[in-house]
Order: sequence, then structure tokens, then C-alpha cells
Amino acid sequence: SDADTEETFDAGSLRTPIVAVLGHVDHGKTTLLDRIRGSAVQEGEAGAITQHIGATAVPLSTISEMAGALVDPTDFDLPGLLFIDTPGHHSFSTLRSRGGALADIAVLVVDVNDGFQPQTEEAINILKRTGTPFVVAANKVDTTPGWNPQNGQPIQQSLEQQSERATSRLNENLYELIGDLSDEGFSADFYWRVQDFQSNIGVVPLSAMTGEGIPDLLTVLMGLSQRYMKEEMSVDVAGPGVGTVLEVKDEQGFGATLDVVLYDGVVREGDTVVVGGRDEPIVTEVRALLQPRPNAEIRTEKRFERVEEVRAAAGVKIAAPDLDDAMSGAPVRVVRGDDVDAVTEEVRKELAKIEVDTTED
Ligand code: GDP
Repeated sequence: SDADTEETFDAGSLRTPIVAVLGHVDHGKTTLLDRIRGSAVQEGEAGAITQHIGATAVPLSTISEMAGALVDPTDFDLPGLLFIDTPGHHSFSTLRSRGGALADIAVLVVDVNDGFQPQTEEAINILKRTGTPFVVAANKVDTTPGWNPQNGQPIQQSLEQQSERATSRLNENLYELIGDLSDEGFSADFYWRVQDFQSNIGVVPLSAMTGEGIPDLLTVLMGLSQRYMKEEMSVDVAGPGVGTVLEVKDEQGFGATLDVVLYDGVVREGDTVVVGGRDEPIVTEVRALLQPRPNAEIRTEKRFERVEEVRAAAGVKIAAPDLDDAMSGAPVRVVRGDDVDAVTEEVRKELAKIEVDTTED
């Protein structure tokens, strides 16, 4: 396009894969996300992990620090992982990008003691339908009787510290889980035995509570994205931004705002954007792009800081006039170079598709 000459962007460079967390209630989705945020803060340099709006970015450097010997950062050229903060299959299935799943990959959390439960089955069906690659987090290994917790350690290191009795109890549960996956038509195995993650599901034993196995989970997610999704991650990061609305929220001083996950391109202050609305697409202009202010007091008004531009993949709050009728789950597209009418038509088509899909559910 035309106006991008003030900076030379690397068109076609790789964006961050978007990761969603699914699973049965109480199996540990929220704890897992909290732990990933918390341990990344602990292990990484200050500020290495970035809290976005509705999402958490964990850069490759932080993952490799956490994972130690598991990761050779030179094996990877993807910038890291972006976790969507709202877990659960409802948000997974309502958040779409171009009719597909917004998330590029998923973590299916299963309590090792409970095994498959109704919402595990539902999540599996959604993952099958959308063709989303996933790994299984076999959570709560620390509840195995006689477990000797190894905080934050890679799981195989932790397993070396467990009694034979504890190991065999855990293995029983894990084999049952692998059996359940096989009943669903997935060939699955302990992740360290999986050669081809496209045809086999890797099972990562872990504890969201003690953090053991989390380095392994992050490593497997990086490997999966790097090996099988590199093409999809090759986007024109300098192109017009495209995203999905997570939520429409009133914010003091800004009125109705959009919490958006941007999965393609760049959005800048002043850009014209088209957003899916209740009756028809809304055409408006970005007044401000907002990110959470690090360490902000929750009750202060200045919870956000303004940024001039945001690149995919990222979570961002967009403040703009006329957003009252915008809808969560709707597409957002930046108009740059293209004709406003053409982009509006595209958003209208995407909206129609989303409505058809959700009425099917
Ligand atoms: P969600 O409904 O899937 O988001 O589940 P939560 O993250 O809220 O977890 C449900 C309960 O299980 C909470 O009481 C957590 O503290 C507990 N929990 C989650 N992960 C672990 C774990 O790895 N070990 C243990 N012992 N408890 C866990």
C-alpha cells in the first residue's frame, strides 16, 4: 500500500500464534492462565511478558528462559505466544476469524483424576469441527497421592523425583486419558514420544498449581506452531489490520469501546475502521488505541495507556465514536488504500456467515 513509507516493515514476517484454553469446568483453565502469566513475570526480565487487552503475550525469550534445556531459541523464529485470557469453549466458538476459529492452536485442559467430562467432549467436538490443532494439558499431577512437588520444573525432571508408587498412579490416569482420546479418534501419547504432532495429540502432564510441566507445555505449543503453522503465521504485518471483537465496553471518558484481538496487519490511531454492528457495519475513525497500564491501580482512572499503533497478533482496546451498536464476535477491518464500500461489504458478508454459524449451534 501507499502510506507505509515512513517505516520499512518486514512484509511477510511472522506473527504470534493465538492460543485458546478449553476444558471442563474446574479442571484448571483459569489457574493455568494465571500461572503462565505469573511464572513468566517471575522468570523473565521485568516487563518481558505483556498484558494486552483480553490477552497475554509471552515472548520467545521468556519461554526459553522458563524452559531451560527444553528450548533452543534458535530453533524458533515465531515471536512467542498470545494467550486469549477468557478460557472456555463459549468464547472459543464465538470468536471467529474469517469464519474459522480465532485461535490458531488450543490447549485442552483435563483434570488427570477426573478424566473426560461432558465439557471435555464438547470442547473436543469444537476442535474437530474447526480443525484446530491442540495439545492436552493433563492437569493436577500434584494431587497424585505421595506427590513430591517440583515447582516450575520440566515434567520429566519432576518425574525423576517421584516415588514408584506415585509415578504408577499417575501413569494409570494418563493411560486412561490417552484411551479416552483414542475413543474420540485421536491417536495420543506422552508428548515426548510424539514425532508428528499433526497426526498425534501430545499429552503434557502438568500442574497449574505448582507449575511443573508448564515449561513443557509452552515448548510444545511453540514447536507445534513453528512446525505446522508457519505458513498461517506468515502475514503482512504491515497490512491493514483485521481483528475480532472480544467485547464492547463502556469506559469512562471514552464511551463505548471495543476490546479486539488483532490477528492480521496493523492498526493505527486515526485509521478508518469498519466494525460489525447490530443492524449494519459501522464505519468510524480510531480515536485512541489503549493498552493496560502496567501495575496500574485498579481504581485509578488511568488504567490505560495510549499507543500509536498495534500489530498482529495482539489484544487492544479501540476507542472511536459510534460504537454503541458494535457486537462481540464481529469482525473489525482497517480501511487503508482500499475503498470503504468494499471493506464494508466484506464485513457485511463475514457478519452474515457468523450469524448462520451460531444459529447452527
Ligand atoms: P476452571 O473452571 O477450569 O477455570 O478451573 P480453575 O482454574 O478455577 O480451577 C478449579 C479448582 O482447581 C481451583 O480450586 C484450583 O485452585 C484447582 N486447581 C487448578 N489447577 C490445579 C492443579 O494443578 N493442582 C491442584 N492441586 N489444584 C488445581
